[in-house]
Amino acid sequence: MFQITIDYDKCQGDEECVNACPAQVYDFEDDKPVIARGEDCLGCETCVEVCPVGAITVEEV
Ligand code: SF4
Repeated sequence: MFQITIDYDKCQGDEECVNACPAQVYDFEDDKPVIARGEDCLGCETCVEVCPVGAITVEEV
């Protein structure tokens, strides 16, 4: 499984990760992404790549 971390100090709430994730891992609440279904993460790192500020890390655990 994969451990997703969002650095909310960097996150600008542009919703790129929410829209790009093929597994619908993220919800968008109060103008920020939240990891709603982390257990569904595929480890593809699409969210890491689309985030313009490098706020997301994905690690295999
Ligand atoms: S690594 Fe892939 S499946 Fe996992 S949250 Fe990011 S975009 Fe979604």
